[in-house]
Amino acid sequence: MSAILRALARASTRLAATSDTPRLDAELLMAAALGIGHDRLLLDPPGGEAPATFADFIERRGAGEPVAYITGRRGFWNIDLEVGPGALIPRPDSETLIAAAVEHFAATPGPKRILDLGTGPGTLLLAALDEWPKATGLGIDSSPIALSYAQRNAERLGLSGRAALQLGDWARDVAHRYDLILCNPPYVAADAPTGPGVADYEPTEALFAGPDGLDDYRRLAPQLGRVIAPGGLAAIEIGFDQADAVTALFAESGLFSHLARDLGGRPRALLVGSS
Ligand code: GLN
Repeated sequence: MSAILRALARASTRLAATSDTPRLDAELLMAAALGIGHDRLLLDPPGGEAPATFADFIERRGAGEPVAYITGRRGFWNIDLEVGPGALIPRPDSETLIAAAVEHFAATPGPKRILDLGTGPGTLLLAALDEWPKATGLGIDSSPIALSYAQRNAERLGLSGRAALQLGDWARDVAHRYDLILCNPPYVAADAPTGPGVADYEPTEALFAGPDGLDDYRRLAPQLGRVIAPGGLAAIEIGFDQADAVTALFAESGLFSHLARDLGGRPRALLVGSS
C-alpha cells in the first residue's frame, strides 16, 4: 500500500470519532493537500509521502472544522464555490430548489431574470445562472462578508457579467419582478441542535431564525407576491418539519404554495407560483 493510501486509512480511523463521513473527509482533505481533484486521487493516486499540510488539515477536521472551510471549496449543482468563515456552506438539500426550477421551466426557454434572496457565497444564484446561460440575476444578502465570497465566485465562474450583488434586507428594496426567485433563509429554531460543527463554525445569522425558526418567513411572506413575475416561480427552502407552518404563513399573505421534497424524501422547499 502506498504512503498516501496508508495516511488516508489512518486519518479516516482518526476522524471516525467526530465525523459521519471520515473516509470521504480524509480523501477530500488529501486531494486538497496534494492540489489535485478528488477523482484523480481515487483513480490515479500519486506516489510519495502525504504532504505535511495533510496532517494539519486532519487536525483541524478532528477539532470539528467543516471540510469545506479547510479546503475553501464546496461543489453545488454544476458549480464549485469558494467558501470560508462568514459564508454558509452549500448543502445538497438546497439543490432541491434548483431541481424544482429546472422542472418548472422545462418546456420554456428558461427564466430570464433570477433573484436570490440571502445568496450567501452566491450558491443558488450562480448555480441558476450556470444552468440558464441567457439569464441575468440579482443576489441579495445582509452580510458583506458573504457577498464578498459571492463576488469572487461570480468572477471565478465567469458569471460576474450576469450577476449583480447587493447588500439588502430580503426583498424590501427590490423594485422589479423576477421569473425565478430562490431563497434559502435561516430556519433553525434558536435552541435546536445542528449538525456537528455547524453552529460552532458557520455564520449564526445564516442559520438561526428566532424561537421557532420562522422569523424570516414572517418577513419574506408579505414581500414575495410583488416580486414574482407572471409565469414565474419562487422556490423557498424550509426545514423538514416546517411545511405546515410556512404554508400557513404564506397563505396569510395570499401566497398559494406546494411542497417539494429532497432526495431523502423529506419536505425541503415550498414552491410559489405567480398569482
Ligand atoms: N439545513 C441547514 C442546517 O442545519 C440550515 C440551513 C438554513 O438554516 N438555511 O445545517
